[in-house]
Amino acid sequence: MSAVPPSPVWHPFTQHRLDPVFKGILRTEGAYLIDEDGRAVLDAISSWWVITHGHRHPTIMDAIRKATESFDQIIFAEYTHAAAEELAQGVIEIAPAGLSHVFFSDSGSTSVEVALKMALGFFHNRGVPRARIVVMEHSYHGDTVGTMSAGARGVFNAAYEPLLFAVETIPFPAPGREQDTLDALDRACRGGDVAALLVEPLVLGAGGMKTYSAHLLAEFRRITSRWNVLLIADEVMTGWGRTGTHFACEQAGIMPDILCTSKGLTGGALPLAATLCQPAIFEAHLSTDRSRTFFHSSSYTANPIACAAGLANLAVWRNEPVRDRVTRLANMHAERLVHFRSDPRFLNVRQIGTVAALDLDVRSTGYLSEVGPSLRTFFRRRDLLIRPLGNVIYLMPPYCVTAAELDRAYEAIAEAADFVGTPGR
Ligand code: PLP
Repeated sequence: MSAVPPSPVWHPFTQHRLDPVFKGILRTEGAYLIDEDGRAVLDAISSWWVITHGHRHPTIMDAIRKATESFDQIIFAEYTHAAAEELAQGVIEIAPAGLSHVFFSDSGSTSVEVALKMALGFFHNRGVPRARIVVMEHSYHGDTVGTMSAGARGVFNAAYEPLLFAVETIPFPAPGREQDTLDALDRACRGGDVAALLVEPLVLGAGGMKTYSAHLLAEFRRITSRWNVLLIADEVMTGWGRTGTHFACEQAGIMPDILCTSKGLTGGALPLAATLCQPAIFEAHLSTDRSRTFFHSSSYTANPIACAAGLANLAVWRNEPVRDRVTRLANMHAERLVHFRSDPRFLNVRQIGTVAALDLDVRSTGYLSEVGPSLRTFFRRRDLLIRPLGNVIYLMPPYCVTAAELDRAYEAIAEAADFVGTPGR
C-alpha cells in the first residue's frame, strides 16, 4: 500500500526527488486521517482547507450513499435535477444578498475561471470595451492558466509565465500602507477599461495567510461601484465559516457582483464549485442571438452526487450548531495565540475566525524557505498534518477539533521553533 517509487502517481505540489510520499491513508474519521500503520494523524489543515465539519460527517455521507442509488453523472445542458435546483436556491439564501444565479463547476480554480469569463462576457455582450482585471499582490486563485494569470507571479508559476495574461496588480494593504492600496485601485479603475477587481476577501490564503480589514474590503466595494467595475469575491477558501462568518463578505456588509465558492460547499466531501452572480450579469448573456451564450461547460457540471452532498452540507448548517462550533474554535485559537504574541521566535501572530497563522522569525522567508520541509517532517513525526507555507505556520482545522487536539498542535508549533532553530534572530 505504501506509495513509494516506482508508483506511477504524480502528486500535487510534491518534489518527488526530495519529498517521498510517505504513507497510504486507509480511512478518515472526524479530525483524523488513519494511515496504513494505524496511526491517527490530526488533520490540522482540513486536507487543503476543504473539510469543514470533520471528515465523513454522517449526514453528508448518508446523502452521498442515497444519491448513488439514483444517479451518476448527467449532462447539465438541456436537463436539470432537483439536487442542483435546491442547492442553488439554498446557497443563494445564505450568500450575501443580491446574488441571483448559480453556475456550477467542479473546483475552486474553475469557479474563478467562470467568474472571469462572466465578467468579460458581461461587458462584451453590452458592447463595452472593458477587459482588464485588477488583482491584489500575493493573491492566489488557482492553478489553471487563467487563475495563475490572476494570481501572484512567482515560484508557483514562473515556468508558465509566457502563457499568462497581463493583469493590473494593486499592493497588498500592509498595515500603515492601506491608503496606497486604495489609491492604486482608484487609479486603475479610473482608466475606464477595467472589467473587474478579483480579491480573496479578508485573508490571502496561499499567499501566506495575510489578513486585511473588513473596512478595506468595504472600500474596495465603494471604489469599484463608483467606476462601474465588477467586484469578484473569491471565497473558495474563506467561505463556509472559515473567517468566522458564513462568507467573509458579510463582515464588510458588501454585495459582490460575483462570488466563487467551492471546498466547504460539500463540507469538503466531494469536488463541487459554484459561481454566483447578480441578475445583470446573467441578463447580459440573455439574447435571441446564440453568440451571446455563456460558453462554459465542464463534463461534471453540477454532478448530482456532489450536489446531494452540498444539500446535506446545507442541512448540517441548518440543523447543527455549526456557527457555535466556529465561534468556539475561534475562541480556542485566540486563547492559545496570546502566549505566542510574546514569544520572540514568532512574528505577525494573527487570526481570522477559525484560521490562525504566525511567521517563524527566520532569515529565509517565502514559500521556498528551507524551514518549510523541516517543519513538515517535524510535524509528521508527531502525527500532525500541518504544511507551513515556507516559514508561515498556520492552523485551519475542521470545526470538530477539540481543545486537547488544538493544544497538541500548538505545543508542537512551539517545539518546532527550537527544532528548526530561528537563525533570523
Ligand atoms: N481560490 C482560492 C482563494 C484558493 O485558496 C484556492 C485553493 O486553495 C483556489 C482558488 C483553487 O481551488 P482548487 O484547488 O479547488 O482549484
